[in-house]
Amino acid sequence: MSKSGGSSVPLSVAIVGSGPSGFYSTEALIKSGINVEIDLIDRLPAPYGLVRSGVAPDHPKLKQAIEVYKKIAQSNEFNFVGNVTVGRDIEAEELQRTHHAVIYTCGAETDRKLGIPGEELAGSHTATEFVGWYNGHPDYRNLNFDLSHETAVVIGQGNVAADVARILAKSVDELKHTDIAQHALDALASSQVRKIYVVGRRGPAQAKFTSKELKEFLEIGNCRPYIDPVELELNSTSLQELDAKEGRGNKRNIEIFRKFAESEDTGKQRTCISTFLKSPIRLQGVDRLQKVVFEENDLSGEPFKQSAKGTGRTMELECGLLFRSIGYNGVPIPGVPFNDRWGTIPNRAGRITSEQEGAVLPGLYTAGWIKRGPSGIIGTNRACAVESVNALLEDVDQLVAEDKPGRNGLYAILERNGVQHINFAQWEKIDAAEIAAGSPKGKPREKFTYYNEMLAAAKG
Ligand code: NAP
Repeated sequence: MSKSGGSSVPLSVAIVGSGPSGFYSTEALIKSGINVEIDLIDRLPAPYGLVRSGVAPDHPKLKQAIEVYKKIAQSNEFNFVGNVTVGRDIEAEELQRTHHAVIYTCGAETDRKLGIPGEELAGSHTATEFVGWYNGHPDYRNLNFDLSHETAVVIGQGNVAADVARILAKSVDELKHTDIAQHALDALASSQVRKIYVVGRRGPAQAKFTSKELKEFLEIGNCRPYIDPVELELNSTSLQELDAKEGRGNKRNIEIFRKFAESEDTGKQRTCISTFLKSPIRLQGVDRLQKVVFEENDLSGEPFKQSAKGTGRTMELECGLLFRSIGYNGVPIPGVPFNDRWGTIPNRAGRITSEQEGAVLPGLYTAGWIKRGPSGIIGTNRACAVESVNALLEDVDQLVAEDKPGRNGLYAILERNGVQHINFAQWEKIDAAEIAAGSPKGKPREKFTYYNEMLAAAKG
């Protein structure tokens, strides 16, 4: 007798999205010891989601999470189904009919909008686009970033903004032995960017960078991190925040910002300037971006709840390149409830609920950024996935009561729709080919950046 509801039928689970939360959901299901068959579906022919396509190329340690995922992938219960888009190659409703349970772990794939005039001008980009481009994501392969401008502006002060600014600031020598895509390295080699402004709407005590990431700016060879010391004068509420236990990380940030303020001009090629209390209100330019207009802000509110309020005073910055890095947003999957306001799938502790009534929809679960919004580090997704899988495990008896064709049903639909799906052994061929291509250049891998190249490599 199996542990899946006293039936010898394995519980069939489809997981949509093979990033960290997809793998941690798989791990939690396997660790539970139930009789389970897992199909981990991804729209790309490659697994690992943001660990492959989001983590910055110069952060190889963060990519070590992949070693854990590789081990999970060796389990008998696991099956990878790459190059399959739910909502295009198979409908969400069809997946519900083939599997006892579906867990959506598809992350937050797009950026939040600023909602200001000029946002769509040429030269104004989302951080997602730039990150996807330098990481060799096939959807962003053909984008062009005009790096011939002297000034670039990054809006937002989170770790993604830090990644974008760092990649703009580093020299090619500092990047050439990473897994950065070759097309990005080639473009960055002739970059004329000399000043990078990283702009926050609140103050230095509220910046969301983690200290480790912020400190890295002190170590970049040919870029001086800088802050006007006046900008480090804090209001009394911010000082209270720094003294509180929850403000420890921000206190460390302030110490690092002080080092930026004290840094001497030694003639480095680039300067990365952090500046605060400014909200972009308009992007301007004829045909393309020429300048950004900011409104200066004051902070008001209780400690840790201070918000930015416009003062009516404005300032302008000429720039030809701008990146909006103000947080990610989920993308709805047709047939799956979605909360537009939050950019997440509505759920109760991982059980998906309907949009209007909030009633639990049997057999549907969610984990990761699409469940709770884009926050936390890679490991945060493990606890999040465990919570969702625990909810699923409580429901097992009801779930297995219904006959479902599982994997065979999924494959039958994909075959009917003429979809070339990729299993894990085929992914391993792509992986091996990428590693082999990177080796002569001293890179950990040279990623394939076109779908057809990946599919050809999968065939070996
Ligand atoms: P984030 O940490 O939430 O930062 C978003 C930034 O955008 C904040 O500075 C926020 O300011 C600002 N912002 C939001 N709306 C704005 C608006 N309308 N106008 C101006 N500024 C606005 O998001 P993220 O940088 O995208 O990172 C997402 C998650 O991934 C985070 O948990 C991050 O730590 C993680 N991550 C980690 C690493 C790493 O570990 N190395 C790397 C990349 C990402 P307010 O504070 O005022 O809202």
